[in-house]
Amino acid sequence: MEGSFSHKTRLANLTAMAAETMDLLIIGGGITGAGIARDAALRGLRVALVEQRDFASGTSSRSTKLIHGGLRYLRQGNFRLVREAARERSVLYRIAPYLTLPVPLLVPLYGSKVVGSTTLRVGLWLYETLGAVKKEDLHQMLSVEETLSREPLLQRSQLSGAGVYTEYLTDDARLVLETVKSAAQAGALMANYAGVTGFLRRSDDICGAVVREVFSGSDLAVQARVVVNATGPWVDEVRGLDGEITGKRLHLTKGIHVVVPREKLPIAEIVLMRTRDKRSSFAIPRGEMVYVGTTDTDYPRPAVRPEITREDVEYLLETVNRTFPDARLGVEDVSAAWAGLRPLLHQEGKSPSEISRSDEILISPSGLLSIAGGKLTTYRRMAERVVDLVSRVLKEKWGKNFSSRSCTADLPLRDGDTSEDRSSADFRRRDFSFTQADVRSALEEEMVLTVEDFLDRRTSASLFTPDNGLGVLEQVVHTMATYFGWDTGRVQKEVEVYHALVQETKAVAHG
Ligand code: FAD
Repeated sequence: MEGSFSHKTRLANLTAMAAETMDLLIIGGGITGAGIARDAALRGLRVALVEQRDFASGTSSRSTKLIHGGLRYLRQGNFRLVREAARERSVLYRIAPYLTLPVPLLVPLYGSKVVGSTTLRVGLWLYETLGAVKKEDLHQMLSVEETLSREPLLQRSQLSGAGVYTEYLTDDARLVLETVKSAAQAGALMANYAGVTGFLRRSDDICGAVVREVFSGSDLAVQARVVVNATGPWVDEVRGLDGEITGKRLHLTKGIHVVVPREKLPIAEIVLMRTRDKRSSFAIPRGEMVYVGTTDTDYPRPAVRPEITREDVEYLLETVNRTFPDARLGVEDVSAAWAGLRPLLHQEGKSPSEISRSDEILISPSGLLSIAGGKLTTYRRMAERVVDLVSRVLKEKWGKNFSSRSCTADLPLRDGDTSEDRSSADFRRRDFSFTQADVRSALEEEMVLTVEDFLDRRTSASLFTPDNGLGVLEQVVHTMATYFGWDTGRVQKEVEVYHALVQETKAVAHG
């Protein structure tokens, strides 16, 4: 079937990748792995990608969901990152209009008007110049009256005005899914719920990996000329499967977000808030909800669901209540929360917020390529650099020639879609009532295998509905059970797993 990307496609892909030698095997189906798969497949490489859980189930569904230039990195002097991120914003705006929604971001200024506004103006000017920002997205400075007419809930004492500029809001998990589907359309063999447990070797070199299919537990050997480790927070664990880790290591930092009903924090645009330790944090409206984040603290090891502490939640609520005193948010107002881990490269002596967000390719003695660091916003450029290197290896070691130029900046992410109508941006939906046909098309076209895949990552109902998607749970389970032929045991398990997920996100605030 045209556009089909179902569990049947997945099984066929696993069989196909075990039957031939791939040019490239990618481990990890977050935005980094998906971006690499798309770029490589479009250059004509024979590509396979395996993801241990669901696509985007790691950091790539736990971000702040901004496609942004990262104004704050100017203060760290990281001009290259700011320039690249700001320019990538424009590329994504062009190739994925429905996933890059321009939203004003308001930066309130307090204290001396001259000092605050001059510093912000200079910063924004530099940012806009480095990023070649479009005329219609250039910043504006606002008086106190103008600021309060836009955001009347702001703390008024010592308010001296605001700056406003445009950032793009995205749905991180959908960006991954669209990239995965685009890679598949270009010929890449993609499979979720298939994790790498070991490597294949020819003398000392890696020549593939052992892949375990999660539901059956069966192993298959995938031969590949080049293997890329794009496992985000798990990069060092996977390097560990290859042998002793030498050189640079990851430094994981945790960021959490909380979600509250918009009626409790009725803001019209993204508002930048200062935390008590002088970090930047955001309040971001999305449909009927507003989410707030993020924190930045060290985390010892990779985890599927990093722990969210009461202290994390209170830190964010305290920031909101200082910025919007009348909101008086308490932990009981939190309807959901999520945590993600930044897969950064360790820099001696730097605090979590100071560590560079730049990416780097690490080459192991066995030939394994690992990609660490980076941002959602810069994923396309990261992928380009990785595939440039992979193409060089394929040429030098295997005599295979592929294009040395990426074409991902010019091709729409969704085939033929250059729509300028951003009002259809599906991720800002307010209506989460799914028809049976909605669920079925996700099963047929988005490789949904569990209830959580659908309610958490394909639709975000778990986070952005007041009832965390529980109102539609029965209907979704019923449609999936009919489609897959699940027995009562499996149905019960799916329901339990989903309830546990919801409880987990609520318990952090309430228990
Ligand atoms: P992941 O998304 O974690 O993907 C790695 C995948 O590898 C996982 O799905 C995992 O299951 C899989 N895997 C692990 N081991 C194996 C194995 N053995 N076999 C197969 N698969 C395996 N960036 C922005 O541009 N804008 C933002 O607003 C922003 N906000 C952020 C906020 C927070 C709190 C955090 C933590 C990050 C934020 N980032 C943001 C950064 C961005 O989210 C990350 O850089 C990006 O998502 C990392 O993607 P990844 O694919 O490298 O890792």
